[in-house]
Amino acid sequence: MKGQHSIRRAPLLIGSVAIALAIWMAVPGPGLAAPDAITSGQFNDSHFHLTNYIQQGLDPRQFLQIMGTRVGRSTLFGIPLQQQWSYANSGEFAPTYYLQSDAPLYYYSFTDAYIASVYRSLSTDDQARFDPMITGFNPADMYGVDHIRRVLQMFPGVFSGIGEFTIHKEFVSAKVSGETASLTNPALDRILDFAADAGLVVLIHNDIDMPFAKQNARPVYLTQMKALLERHPKATIIWAHMGLGRVVHPVQASAEAAQRSSGQLEIVEAMLTDPALGHVNFDISWDEVAKYAIATPESIARVAAMLNRHPDRFLFGTDTVAPAGPAPYYAVFDLWAPVWRLLTPEASLAIRKTNYERIFNEGRSRVRDWERMNVK
Ligand SMILES: [Zn+2]
Repeated sequence: MKGQHSIRRAPLLIGSVAIALAIWMAVPGPGLAAPDAITSGQFNDSHFHLTNYIQQGLDPRQFLQIMGTRVGRSTLFGIPLQQQWSYANSGEFAPTYYLQSDAPLYYYSFTDAYIASVYRSLSTDDQARFDPMITGFNPADMYGVDHIRRVLQMFPGVFSGIGEFTIHKEFVSAKVSGETASLTNPALDRILDFAADAGLVVLIHNDIDMPFAKQNARPVYLTQMKALLERHPKATIIWAHMGLGRVVHPVQASAEAAQRSSGQLEIVEAMLTDPALGHVNFDISWDEVAKYAIATPESIARVAAMLNRHPDRFLFGTDTVAPAGPAPYYAVFDLWAPVWRLLTPEASLAIRKTNYERIFNEGRSRVRDWERMNVK
């Protein structure tokens, strides 16, 4: 689950300006490939939140209007955590985001029923453009896996994966009611074991490091994360944001340091070449991550070179949360323009579209097989 990304605060444009902008935004910008012939759309969105931290957001039909012809397919999930409105904490102020209150977050499992029901209200053609994901489970609960299984049994034919769910995330993890999630909790192993069995694609958010960590130190959660991934070689896993976060900057990310070393990219590159981690992919979602990639000409070149070397292991996603319209939605894709320009046509196509199709088509098909065997 990702935050209220800064682009969401873009003013909601109204009237003819908005319409003109929407039309303009629907046209690929300079240097960007036109929609490819193989499949429709300029990109697929591997990371999209239909609703926010108070379970409000878009109807999928409104999202389909934003997608138009520019987006082929998209994942579909809410946010598993609900921000409590504590009168004792904020009085009449109703928080809509986790940074706006000291009150806890709690797991809001109804999100899965909500996503399933709005998905089922769509036509078959529209359904085919979405890959709904189960998120409303507590990864620190040994019963968490039972929730996932129950959702598949209650809503067969709907879900392709689980996530985005979160283990470590700045300011969020510590606010969640009950036991804090951990990469070493067997409850999480049970969930990933089941995902591997059922074929569910796994989209996991785990900050690689603590907020405002010291430069040049080994990221605090890297060892545990790699061990977790290695324990589940049969699960298809997407590590959201390459492990980065709002205040979890790439190791040696400053413009000055970036000229000497590419720390974070070396960590990711080492994982990409590790034969024990061939089942792990990375999404390059979130404007907070894009800002690191496009920080300097050197960072742009370095990120593009890594994507070109491993085109099959990255997926583009917007990580927008209930976007108010086309402008904030497409802004994330357009932020990456300097990187897209440096990609080979093959790498660009794979990261924008075909990796999504390969991974989620397989997830869909395997979960439908599991349902045939296990849902009466
Ligand atoms: Zn997210």
